[in-house]
This record gives sequence, structure tokens and C-alpha cells, in this order.
Amino acid sequence: MKLHLASGNAHKAEEFQALAAASGLTVDIVSARDVGGMPAVAEDTGTFAGNARRKARALLARLPAGSWVLADDSGLCVDALDGAPGVESAYFAGPVGDPAANLAKLVREMRDVPDQRRGAHFICMLLVAGPGGQEFIFEGRCDGRLRREPRGGSGFGYDPVFVPAGETLTFAELGEAVKNRLSHRGRAWAAVADWLRRNGGR
Ligand code: IMP
Repeated sequence: MKLHLASGNAHKAEEFQALAAASGLTVDIVSARDVGGMPAVAEDTGTFAGNARRKARALLARLPAGSWVLADDSGLCVDALDGAPGVESAYFAGPVGDPAANLAKLVREMRDVPDQRRGAHFICMLLVAGPGGQEFIFEGRCDGRLRREPRGGSGFGYDPVFVPAGETLTFAELGEAVKNRLSHRGRAWAAVADWLRRNGGR
């Protein structure tokens, strides 16, 4: 089956394509870029699930009848910042959504936070939406801590400062395969894959 990804983020599309391939399912993740681009969506519902629903419905509305959509809303929740940036992760440093500025702001705000208070977790909410109004939601979480200085060149967003629990390297140093095994997105996708297997691949 085809799942159209309701995201304009090329990194997310790559991660989902790798995750789908590794799951052994015959699922084809189609980037929104290949179907005319992701429509602009106001991500202001205040929840990951609400934002994922908005993205899913916006893309579904422009696809041919019978299409299925996968929407991802995700973010980084930092303990010492009372859960910020959370649902605002993409716009932490301002409305333009500049990943480098977001990362720089996080590094700045966390500079004087001691080691024992540098806990954080990523959340990924996935919503699968079908042509008959069906909506199924799946969640993945990855706990870890934040490095003081960014390290590593793979991944995206806050990956260069996030060290998943049990590891010593950042997601950006660990690389795609390890990240996909441990990450919030990988875990949420595992739940989607189980559901697809139980439902005959839909
Ligand atoms: P969204 O595209 O509106 O869901 O925004 C997600 C934002 O959360 C991204 O722009 C990143 O800032 C951050 N984020 C989500 N997942 C990851 C990840 O796997 N690595 C690093 N940053 C992430």
C-alpha cells in the first residue's frame, strides 16, 4: 500500500522510507513533495496529536479518492525548561522555523544547567488517516539527555545535542540506522507496522 507522508520535512521522509523498508512490509512512503508539496498548516492546536490531525486532513484533502496518509508531529521536551520547546520545537527561535537557530537557542538556554538536570525526551505522534474518515494514532517516546555542545553530522533538528538513554553519542553521531532503532519516530513506526501486519497491510 501507499502511505502519503503529510510533511514537507525531507529528513522525516528519508527516515520513514528507511523504517518502512526495514519493517519488511510492502508499504511505500510517498513524500508530499512528490504530490505537489505539503499544504501550509497552522500548527497551533497545542498538542502533538492535534497538529498531526491537521496535517493529515490537509494533505488528504488534496489527494485522489482512496488515498491513505501518514502524519507526524514530533518535538523535544526538556525537563529543565518545563517541557519546552515541546509542540513548538520547529519554531523555538521564531516563526520562520530555522533549525540552526532553534538548536543555537537550546544550547544557549541550557548552557548553565548542571549535568544532573539535563534530561529531555523526544515525542513522536503518528496519525494514519484513511479515505473513509478513519484515523488511528500511535505514539513513540525516546528519553535521553542534552550535551552542552552540538556533535555529529547526521540527522536533523536537535539531533546534535541529544544523547539517547544508554548511549554516549548524540543521534547525529550515532547515524541513521541506530537512530531509527532507538528514536521516538522508530518506536511510533514500530506500532504502526504492528497494526498494519494485524490488519493485513491495509
Ligand atoms: P514538526 O515537523 O512540526 O513535527 O516539528 C518537529 C520539530 O521537532 C523539528 O523541526 C525538530 O526541531 C524537532 N524534532 C522532531 N523530531 C526530531 C528528531 O528526530 N531529531 C531532531 N529534532 C527533531
